[in-house]
This record gives sequence, C-alpha cells and structure tokens, in this order.
Amino acid sequence: MTYYNDRLAQYITDLFAPQDAALQRALTESPQRGLPAISIRAEEGRFLQFIVRACGAKKALEIGTLGGYSGIWIARGLVPGGRLITLERDPAHAAVARDHFEAGGVADRVEIRLGNAHDSLKKLANESPFDFVFIDADKPGYLQYYEWAMNNVRMGSIIAAHNAFRAGAIVNPNDTTTDTEAMRTFNKHVAADPRAISTIYPGGDGTLVVVKIA
Ligand code: SAH
Ligand code: MG
Repeated sequence: MTYYNDRLAQYITDLFAPQDAALQRALTESPQRGLPAISIRAEEGRFLQFIVRACGAKKALEIGTLGGYSGIWIARGLVPGGRLITLERDPAHAAVARDHFEAGGVADRVEIRLGNAHDSLKKLANESPFDFVFIDADKPGYLQYYEWAMNNVRMGSIIAAHNAFRAGAIVNPNDTTTDTEAMRTFNKHVAADPRAISTIYPGGDGTLVVVKIA
C-alpha cells in the first residue's frame, strides 16, 4: 500500500515549500518568455535545497539551467560562501535565468556557463571536486554526466538526477522512446553501482539521488 498522491504533494508544498515572489516569478515567467514549462516543482525544489544543505555543499553544479528555477532552490541550500555553477547551451534560456537569479537574490553565488554541457564538463574537471551535482538536461547524456560527476565529487557528496519517472513512462513497457530507454538504462546503471547508495525520491517526476560512498 502506498499513500502518496497529489493532495499529499500539495500538503508538503504548502508546509515546507512556500515560494517567495522570486520563485513564483521564475516558475511562471519562464514559459511566458518562451521557455518550455519543464521546471521542477516546488516540493522538488525544497527537496534539492534540503539535500544540498544536508551534504554541506559549498560547491554545486547543475547541468540544465532553463529559467533558473531549480538553480534558485539549489543556491539557497548552499552553506554560506557557497557557489553554484550551472550549465546551459541555449543563450535565450540563460538570459531568462540570469534575471531570475538576480530577482532571487542569488546572482552573487551563481555562475551560468554557456555551451554544450559535454564540452563545459571537460573544462570543469579542473575545478573539481564538487560537493553536489544536479543533472537535468538531455536524457541520453545522463550516463556520461553521471560518470563525470562520480569522478569529480568527493566522498559523501550527493548526485541528483531529475525525471527518473519520465511522467510514469519508465514503467510502461510500450514506451520505447529514446529518452525513456535512456532513463531506464541510467536508473539501472546507478542502482547497480557499487560506488553509490542510491534511490529515487518519488515527488514530482522522480529524482534519482546518489551518495558517493567509494
Ligand atoms: N533544471 C531546470 C530545468 C532544466 S530543462 C529547472 O528545473 O528549473 C533542461 C535544460 O537543459 C534546457 O534549458 C536545455 O536547453 C538544457 N540542455 C539540454 N541539453 C543540454 C546540453 N547538452 N548542454 C547544455 N544544456 C542542455
Ligand atoms: Mg527535468
């Protein structure tokens, strides 16, 4: 028996994830400015903020900025003096995100790196180790992003990856789209990784979470 449903998600959101004007603006304005409406949800944001602080992250990395909604939550979880680098290939998305980081009071802590994440990560290895990595970009890239993260975080760091459920398609055998298959392969790969303790946080679209233990 499981009890989780939309009403309970709303309960969590109301109690633990109240949004200030800047977060609300980031969520509603991104689609208004032409970005896809695929930001994480408030309760997922609160969860990210929680795990960022739980692992004491000072140096965080996000792959997939969009309008900066998740980035605000992550940045607000950092220990004082912490920094977030967020990777985005679309300059139009980055421009919207910049405004939202400014409004959210985190622009001093957040740096957007423009370009394909695969290229950015090659350069970023010089700046490791990171304490927290959030993967939320192209699904076929997840495996590589994860392996990069595993090699560039410290012991006890957390790696999180969004869309573990693919809106439920992950358990629908008739869905064999590239992105869903990529997430199946990815979830399996992580679950079997002896360097990690991992599970899926089931709020929203599911966030796979990993603690690096070896
Ligand atoms: N994390 C955001 C949502 C990210 S949506 C939030 O919850 O608020 C995915 C983003 O990743 C999009 O903006 C897309 O342009 C970007 N993206 C996709 N593939 C990418 C790649 N290979 N390199 C860099 N950015 C990429
Ligand atoms: Mg996502």
